[in-house]
Amino acid sequence: MDSDLAQVKAPRRKRRKLPRSFKELTPTQAFSPRAYFRQMVWKALLTPRGGQRKTPAFPRLGEKQVAITFIGHASFLIQFADLNVLIDPNFANWLFFMKRQKHAGLKLKDLPQADLVLLTHAHFDHFHKRTLRRLSSPRMAIVPWGVGDLADGLGFDRVLELEWWEMFSRGDLRVTLTPCKHWGARVLRDHHRGYGGFLLEYHGRRIYHAGDSAYFDGFKEIGKRCTPEIALLPIGAYEPESFRSVHMGPDDAVKAFRELQAQWIVPMHYGTFRLSFEDMDEPLLRFRGLIEKANLGRHLRVLEEGVPEVF
Ligand SMILES: [Zn+2]
Ligand SMILES: [Zn+2]
Repeated sequence: MDSDLAQVKAPRRKRRKLPRSFKELTPTQAFSPRAYFRQMVWKALLTPRGGQRKTPAFPRLGEKQVAITFIGHASFLIQFADLNVLIDPNFANWLFFMKRQKHAGLKLKDLPQADLVLLTHAHFDHFHKRTLRRLSSPRMAIVPWGVGDLADGLGFDRVLELEWWEMFSRGDLRVTLTPCKHWGARVLRDHHRGYGGFLLEYHGRRIYHAGDSAYFDGFKEIGKRCTPEIALLPIGAYEPESFRSVHMGPDDAVKAFRELQAQWIVPMHYGTFRLSFEDMDEPLLRFRGLIEKANLGRHLRVLEEGVPEVF
């Protein structure tokens, strides 16, 4: 695929303060390992998997229309009339010992062919190799710096790495990697791996997927520079408090949405995998309440897994 890489701003590689390992994200100070296992693994094992895989009715789209299908967790299919984009596709029923709590909204075989796959970072709930391997001849992947080697052998024609604010463009299509407050190591020592969110622009539509992020004042800058129209924002995995240094809670997401000044807010990263201690249905309930209280209800689009929504 011929394309040009337009560099908007010099890459930033300054050292960021990050958690050093997954261990730092397990609340061992507040909870014993046994309590951790009971809460995170055992509870999930005993809970029957909810939701159902639907046969999606993908709409016919006009040139300026975009359809978004929530697959579950942070996974989305974004469709334009002549372009299919997947973001962080993950159809896993198990992430190691962690049981998926809600079925993916559709079957992987019902996906249309992906022209482009955007992967926000290397964490297992976002960069799921088995899912990527099963996609039918995906053409291109765009990933943050230091993540490209993970996509080797997964069937992509081309894998492109971006730094924050770098942009890939081809014709009318532009993909920008945006900053976020998170970390990139997939295992313990691979801290060279980058992480971010994406702004996807095509036919004048601008969709922003925040990736995983804590609240940070970068949302103001993203709002100013990218003027996103549809904001896909994470609202789950915020309990205990220490998780807030890498994940947003519902209140943070409302604040971020205001600063992004987007037209639509679509919540994600809740209700699928038990990654944290809050109840599985708490993030969305709290989020809906906060959105109503902030009088932002007209901007909210809660997507049902497997049901394409046209914007
Ligand atoms: Zn993550
Ligand atoms: Zn995540």
